[in-house]
Amino acid sequence: MTRQQRIIVVGGGPVGIVTALACAQRGFAVTLLEAEKEVDCSPRAATTHPSTLEMIASLGIIDEFIASGLVARYFDFWDQAAHELVARFDHDVLRERTAFPFVVQTEQHKLVNIGLRHLKQCADVDVRFGAAVTELTQDASGVTVTVESDGRTERVSGAFLVGADGGRSTVRKKLDIEFEGYTWPERFLVLTTSFDFEKAIGCSYRSYLADPVEWGNLFKIAGDDMKGRWRAVFPAPVDVADEAVMSDEEAQRRLNRILDLGGETYPLLHRNLYRVHQRVAKSFRVNRVFLAGDASHVNNPIGGLGLNCGIHDALELADTFALCPDGNAEAPVLDRYERRRRTLNIEFVQQQTVANKKRLEEKDPAERQRHLADLAATAADPARHTAFLMRTSLLQSVIQSKAID
Ligand SMILES: Cc1cc2nc3c(=O)[nH]c(=O)nc-3n(C[C@H](O)[C@H](O)[C@H](O)COP(=O)(O)OP(=O)(O)OC[C@H]3O[C@@H](n4cnc5c(N)ncnc54)[C@H](O)[C@@H]3O)c2cc1C
Repeated sequence: MTRQQRIIVVGGGPVGIVTALACAQRGFAVTLLEAEKEVDCSPRAATTHPSTLEMIASLGIIDEFIASGLVARYFDFWDQAAHELVARFDHDVLRERTAFPFVVQTEQHKLVNIGLRHLKQCADVDVRFGAAVTELTQDASGVTVTVESDGRTERVSGAFLVGADGGRSTVRKKLDIEFEGYTWPERFLVLTTSFDFEKAIGCSYRSYLADPVEWGNLFKIAGDDMKGRWRAVFPAPVDVADEAVMSDEEAQRRLNRILDLGGETYPLLHRNLYRVHQRVAKSFRVNRVFLAGDASHVNNPIGGLGLNCGIHDALELADTFALCPDGNAEAPVLDRYERRRRTLNIEFVQQQTVANKKRLEEKDPAERQRHLADLAATAADPARHTAFLMRTSLLQSVIQSKAID
């Protein structure tokens, strides 16, 4: 394949790395600029849905990706208040529709590290860590960024630029694009423990706990040592100070609501408190510059849709650029990216994640019973079971997105 135009990718998180790899594999020269000196290995997203696994397979890294995580065929909804399993969904019903009828729980920094290894093997790729983008300009012939690294300032130019620089995106701010939406008043508390919840209560590797007092999510991840650990997520009330929410006592209290250990303590490996938002950028493109991943949309993590959608953005962008190998910013197909990705995020991801949260935290007893009964009825009916998983796996959204011209 002949070398094509240069794509600049700002941000070496999972979305930036996948975008860079997909563009390099389509024959583009790529410059990846990441502000931090090292890959961020803090615990963040881990759930990768079937539709996203198909995309990761298209990059040629699926075996490494699956091997570094855990395969989760089932996921559960529990009535936490009653300690009862309400519904168990089985991805295997999707086996006629996807090569990956399961979810893989692989921590996002592992995807970054695998992607980076493959990216560095591609021709004409320049990967720079410790390189922060501070300014950008564009004209009819290309886009240029100012990069600060180790006290030096330089400029890098390309045909197109992808801002995959996270929720606080400098690229988005430099383009003056509004990040429309809101921030939840409560923060989300994440606790990681080596306690084995599957063994103790028989839950699946992904379990959603409905509770009018204090909802929760429970996930098993492999960990860097592959020994397995469980991550629990809870809401942290607005009026309680960070130190109190993060205290040992509070951590034990919350985990004991899932299963009372009768005075024994849960071994804690990690804890974190973070702010959660529902926001979508007013525009995903200004001429030669495109936004992807958290730079363009953020949502609560219930359902594990945010990063998955970011990876879908990455593949859509690489395929779109491949239709404009000469770097012509006037090509009408470039507008399709925003039509597909922004529409889908607003109409599906934002609505679904807000509904997921509401379903878990519902306080009205009648409404709560209605939600739980509906989940149980959906799981029990084969056609509804499949339709439900087509949505949660984002397979349906891929079909919908491709239908937008
Ligand atoms: C604490 C926390 C916990 C989370 N937990 C979950 C979870 O449990 N489940 C879930 O689904 N999602 C979770 N998320 C969300 C998930 O992590 C994001 O959706 C995901 O990281 C998005 O990937 P990204 O590549 O778009 O952005 P990021 O991962 O944020 O990567 C952006 C990269 O851009 C770099 N950058 C920023 N500015 C510049 C610049 N000017 N120049 C160069 N580089 C720059 C940053 O250093 C960073 O490496 C969590 C997020 C946080 C913050």
